[in-house]
Amino acid sequence: MSAANGLSDIRNIGFIAHIDAGKTTVTERVLYFTGKTHKIGEVHEGTAVMDSMSLEQERGITISAAATTCEWKNFRINIIDTPGHVDFTAEVERSLRVLDGGIVVFDAVAGVQPQSETVWRQANRYHVPRLCFINKMDRIGADPQRTIDMITNRLKANPIAIQMPMGEESNFRGVIDLIEGKAFFYSGDGMDGPIEGPVPDELLDQFQESRRVMVEKIAETNDGLISKYLAEEEITPNELKKALREATTKDILIPVLFGTALKNKGIQPLLDAIGEYLPSPPDIAAVIGVDPKTKEELIRHPRPEEPLSALAFKVVTDPFVGRLVYFRVYSGTIKSGTTVYNSTKGKRERMGRILRMHADHREEIPEIGVGEIGAALGLKNTFTGDTIADEKNSIVLETIIFPEPVVSVAIEPKTRVDQDKLTDALLKLADEDPTFKVNYNQETGQTIIAGMGELHLEVLVERIRREFNVEANVGRPNVAYRETITKPCRVEGRFVRQSGGRGQYGHVWIEVEPLERGSGFQFVNRIVGGSVPKEYIPAIQRGIEEAITTGILGGYRVIDLKVSVVDGTYHQVDSSEMAFKAAGSIAVKEALRRGGSVLLEPIMDLEVVTPGDFLGDVLGNLNSKRAQIRHIEGEGPIQSVSALAPLVEIFGYANNLRSLTQGRASFTMEFKEYTEAPKSVIAQAAGV
Ligand code: GDP
Repeated sequence: MSAANGLSDIRNIGFIAHIDAGKTTVTERVLYFTGKTHKIGEVHEGTAVMDSMSLEQERGITISAAATTCEWKNFRINIIDTPGHVDFTAEVERSLRVLDGGIVVFDAVAGVQPQSETVWRQANRYHVPRLCFINKMDRIGADPQRTIDMITNRLKANPIAIQMPMGEESNFRGVIDLIEGKAFFYSGDGMDGPIEGPVPDELLDQFQESRRVMVEKIAETNDGLISKYLAEEEITPNELKKALREATTKDILIPVLFGTALKNKGIQPLLDAIGEYLPSPPDIAAVIGVDPKTKEELIRHPRPEEPLSALAFKVVTDPFVGRLVYFRVYSGTIKSGTTVYNSTKGKRERMGRILRMHADHREEIPEIGVGEIGAALGLKNTFTGDTIADEKNSIVLETIIFPEPVVSVAIEPKTRVDQDKLTDALLKLADEDPTFKVNYNQETGQTIIAGMGELHLEVLVERIRREFNVEANVGRPNVAYRETITKPCRVEGRFVRQSGGRGQYGHVWIEVEPLERGSGFQFVNRIVGGSVPKEYIPAIQRGIEEAITTGILGGYRVIDLKVSVVDGTYHQVDSSEMAFKAAGSIAVKEALRRGGSVLLEPIMDLEVVTPGDFLGDVLGNLNSKRAQIRHIEGEGPIQSVSALAPLVEIFGYANNLRSLTQGRASFTMEFKEYTEAPKSVIAQAAGV
């Protein structure tokens, strides 16, 4: 293990990939070769260190974003685990928020798979600088150049090979570092690490050509180097590295490396590249937040002397230590045993112990500083997305936005005596996962759980069985419809009661207009001249917000609308908050009737990968489900279909597809957007 690290030696990274590209295996090897784990876990044997939940080991998918620390040379690398399955995009989003760089793992045979595009787009959105690791170079049919071309054409990125693979398929024996002009040879099972040597003679020509291409690409990004390049002056490896680091951290170039994680080849050069090219916390722009009181914008630089700011990004209930809150520190320092301030909630909290999580042990640390990632014990009221700050110099960082659940099912324990255990389990899981919601329906007495897809809920129900020992029955899935208006309108809400004694008087005029999909609800006070006293405005807002939780077309939440209070009248004696709240509610219900209310249904982005023989059946079936086929792409005998389909139509699609294709096709889906539902669906949804 290396000595203490400076801020510029920290790397907060995540491996991102389409499921099955080898992300878990790569992570596993990284942890092994950085000397933290002593036994190599194989995914197919279900012992991978990162997959700490037993369920993940069985399914072979990584769901939760645990953060693991390892050391390589002088670098401290914090690995934030990201899931590969698109049903868990919320997990990907939250990890992208706190990491500074990503390593995108590709399968050298499959190249850029449909779902790699999803994670790539997400990484683009968060401007995450990246390296690409083309894995599985040992596989028959490995074609690294084709993968690079696909990265260019399909992902519209600018990849730059900084290595040259030596040999292919079973003859893959290592890589040549194009910058240094050194070869790294592996032998046997690769466990002894690479042996460094000169570029083999027979590869010299190819090496020189590849290097020329690389140097030109790097030089193009750098004014100093381009003139040297054009003047045919020598550019040193250090100059190249410096310029490449700059271009990578600015997301202009994406260095590409090669290897095979399963055969233990190419991992050490990848670790070197993580240190060399991915940004450290000081390379990242200062974080922006707002003052919780004045709402003024504030910034915090990644410096220890700045006031504390940290973001909680994951809550996990650990069976051994209890509730763990993972957080990233953006400025200042947190000490264990002190009082901190949750500025999102406006509450003081006691910071218990602070842990650094390694692959095979937890390290207790007295304090944690800028750029670091830790897990806290003892925070009771801190949830995903909350800011932890210094109470005197408070700041609220931008929260992590999670999509609302789109599917719900009723759940009950198989045996009545388990009711309390089930409730406890559900609450714990909802605490960990912001896209999982639990509700109790008073009318039916049912417990309803809601999430982002059938697989999401299935995985949670299995966790309840395994981790909490509760067997549960679930009902049929239901779609979480929404309602919105289609045209603006101006309406009045009056709540006036005169029945002797003190009456009730609330009267408002509101203007309601539709907003773009995904905008949510906005409230604006446009009263001028005091026609309604200021103190009643919050009550009007509350009345409106409550009223739109149940729309008029079947009781679904109303979204994407802006309500402005523009006028009204009041009464010296009879007006009250209660009366204005009721007036707001009456007004907005009227607006729904006049504003052309429509029902919205969730549309899923679906990717089906199928052998070509079944393509016709798959398409026919999708057409019968109101799906809109976006594109069909063929890679030899394998075809992939991308489609948008209403969630209600594709319940149980897993079984459907299995029987259509003799189990040979696979699919993934994620929530895309809400769109207007056809009339037939409205009748069904409203239970007519
Ligand atoms: P993830 O879904 O991206 O985490 O992928 P995994 O790490 O679980 O790997 C998927 C499968 O590919 C497993 O069966 C691995 O053993 C296998 N695999 C991973 N890396 C390699 C590799 O370099 N070569 C070959 N041939 N197989 C690999």
